[in-house]
Amino acid sequence: MAKAPTDGVRLTLAQGHDLAVRALMRHGCDLENAQAIARNMMRAEADGSYSHGLFRLPWCIHTLKLGRANGAARPGIARRAPGLVWVDCGRGFAPLAQEAAIPVLAQAARDNGVAVLALRNVHHVAALWPECESVCEHGLVSLAMTPSFPYVAPAGGNRPLYGTNPIGFGWPRRGRPPMVFDQASAAMARGDIMLAARDGHAVPEGVGIDAEGRPTTDPNAILRGAQLAFGGYKGAALALMVELLSGPLIGDFLSIEAEADDGGTRCTPLGGEFILAMDLARFGDPETILEHAERLFAEIERQPGARLPGDRRLDNRRRSQTEGFVVPKPTWDAITAALA
Ligand code: NDP
Repeated sequence: MAKAPTDGVRLTLAQGHDLAVRALMRHGCDLENAQAIARNMMRAEADGSYSHGLFRLPWCIHTLKLGRANGAARPGIARRAPGLVWVDCGRGFAPLAQEAAIPVLAQAARDNGVAVLALRNVHHVAALWPECESVCEHGLVSLAMTPSFPYVAPAGGNRPLYGTNPIGFGWPRRGRPPMVFDQASAAMARGDIMLAARDGHAVPEGVGIDAEGRPTTDPNAILRGAQLAFGGYKGAALALMVELLSGPLIGDFLSIEAEADDGGTRCTPLGGEFILAMDLARFGDPETILEHAERLFAEIERQPGARLPGDRRLDNRRRSQTEGFVVPKPTWDAITAALA
């Protein structure tokens, strides 16, 4: 996890939202898309999900400028089967499609017990916890995943094949925010490897291999070679699952296909997102299920040093309402240049 920036320009969340909307509209987004992307980025800033806030704005603008994303796209939402919500996002950015389709997914899950949302042809799925949390707000359990560009080698292999392929999981709780974990299947975030390369630091063993497939702690050699999944072949199998469920199953790109489609333009990845929702009420009495889960959460918290995933984010969320957040200088400069 990237560290909280301390050096830069402090903004309130409302100011950050306004800045993002203006920059996106200047470069081709309509108001609805710009506001949805800004809401998503401000959720990330509020929770200290630093690599998915305004940091990503210049990348989205670059993608708009090249005409590879449609800033005025509207999601085409269809109930393809009782439990399958099929969405063509028309090369638009993910947030507007997620906001429009999650209520439809929730209804499908209530009707059927379980339902899947297939977001297709979508640009730049960011962190997954916001959509996991949004599904939980309907009283549902959620599971989300998406591929990206190929950075991670298969177990035993020597060339990038899988994306860093995150998996998010959300569990609703009574009277408090849901428990959500959201983690990449790569051992280390690519951005952290790039920072180590920039600063001349080695990275821990197990993070990556060089172009010949040999283990290395040299970040530059890893960037030329491949990253590794966390937990060896076990994490690699999860990355494989992410490719299958959010690629071939929903008729969208594998990470290697997203890279080919990008054609070296270095835009945000185009591809799919798979979101599963489960209705507690179809499994049993929701109050009994939720109470039972609280026993597990309480047992975790009873152990000194242990915490629930997501607690760091929720602490940040409380703090950022009054303190705002810091935009690092390079990001601030890139955004103000885009507004000039
Ligand atoms: P982290 O390794 O920072 O955290 C992963 C999860 O573990 C979080 O839910 C975190 O909760 C939890 N966690 C961390 N430390 C503890 C602990 N001590 N005890 C219990 N739980 C803990 O995340 P990653 O670097 O793997 O991913 C960062 C983000 O990047 C994610 O949001 C992911 O979706 C996104 N991403 C997106 C990609 C894309 O292509 N769209 C590709 C790769 C990543 P908490 O947040 O509270 O610390």
